[in-house]
Amino acid sequence: MATIVQKYGGTSVGNPERIKNVARRVLETQRAGNRVVVVVSAMSGVTDNLIRLAREVSEEPLEREMDVLLATGEQTTIALTAMAIEAMGGKAASCTGGQAGIVTDGVHTKARISSISPDEVNRLLDDGHVVVVAGFQGVTSGGRITTLGRGGSDLTAIALAAAIKADVCQIYTDVDGVYTADPRLVPDARKIPVISYEEMLEMASSGSKVMQSRSVEFANKYGVPFEVRNSMNQNPGTLVTRETMNMESVVIRGVSLEKDQAKITIAALPDRPGNAARVFSAIGSAHLNIDMIVQNTGRDGEARISFTLHKNDLKKAREVLEEAVRGIGERVEILATDGIAKVSAVGIGMRSHSGVAATMFKALGDAGINIDMISTSEIKIAVIVDEKSQENAIRVVHQAFRLHEAPLV
Ligand code: ASP
Ligand code: MG
Repeated sequence: MATIVQKYGGTSVGNPERIKNVARRVLETQRAGNRVVVVVSAMSGVTDNLIRLAREVSEEPLEREMDVLLATGEQTTIALTAMAIEAMGGKAASCTGGQAGIVTDGVHTKARISSISPDEVNRLLDDGHVVVVAGFQGVTSGGRITTLGRGGSDLTAIALAAAIKADVCQIYTDVDGVYTADPRLVPDARKIPVISYEEMLEMASSGSKVMQSRSVEFANKYGVPFEVRNSMNQNPGTLVTRETMNMESVVIRGVSLEKDQAKITIAALPDRPGNAARVFSAIGSAHLNIDMIVQNTGRDGEARISFTLHKNDLKKAREVLEEAVRGIGERVEILATDGIAKVSAVGIGMRSHSGVAATMFKALGDAGINIDMISTSEIKIAVIVDEKSQENAIRVVHQAFRLHEAPLV
């Protein structure tokens, strides 16, 4: 008997009909002789609505209370899903994150899982239940409700799969899998049959938000293979797994676009040990996620550091930086801009093939698209472009690597 964790995202449980669809699929899986744990998100739009509600009563809602509020979204779905399963003659029990034994640290709205004690989940499974677990939430050891960051239900599913040693983890969503590019932007994008954790991670952190990146990191760390599939059909999805030898034959697995980026430049920073640390410690203490970092040192003993971040974090970053650089040097200046986007080409095959950067830059150049910043890793080349050319940029890069026709495995 196999143990299967299935996660259904917001659109897959977006209305009562869809919840019944999930219930039906889950029961089929159980009746085929499996033990089934279902992790669900809030119904689509619910989390956003709750956030909006909070803003209507407070400009800066307490993060502790945000978590209490947001956790209700998933709690609604677990109850409805369990009811739907029961109504179809199945046996189901819902669990909040806390009831499923998910314990986190106390960083509200972005909590990290510190341990999982799945005794209750195992007991319910042994007793023949489908166990319906609320995604995205946990409790601190002191019993406070926490949430795991937007998209955190994926993490719940993968972490639970690891904790109960599930044989299969399936992430159901509203697309057939991971594509070579977002098909809404690039019409001839294709579904990728198999992708390594590392590539998936780079794609996710570069804007291909099929899944929350922290979940992929977690899966990589604990070696949990998982499949991204469509909840509305039976099509095979994308298998995300450890890298194998033949996966290197594909040079670029996909290209992604990260919109709504912003850039901060700290100019005329005295070129002395400790200054970069001072800047980034301030950013770190504010729990802000930053992306590309570029530093240049001029001949005048002054450095210039630029980094990118989400435009929603721009205001807060600016505030903490102004505080952090106070007294560092007279000419220090903080410049902030938004209206930029990041285009990335990702593939582990890059390690063993040359000329990849040149191909990408030429495609952009030929299309008249200016490159603002460049960053590379072993398996990724990313550029910052003006948001006005973002869609054209991803199309020409996809075309340049012939992702519409080249073999994908
Ligand atoms: N409901 C949460 C969100 O919208 C978590 C999730 O869907 O995974 O971010
Ligand atoms: Mg979601």
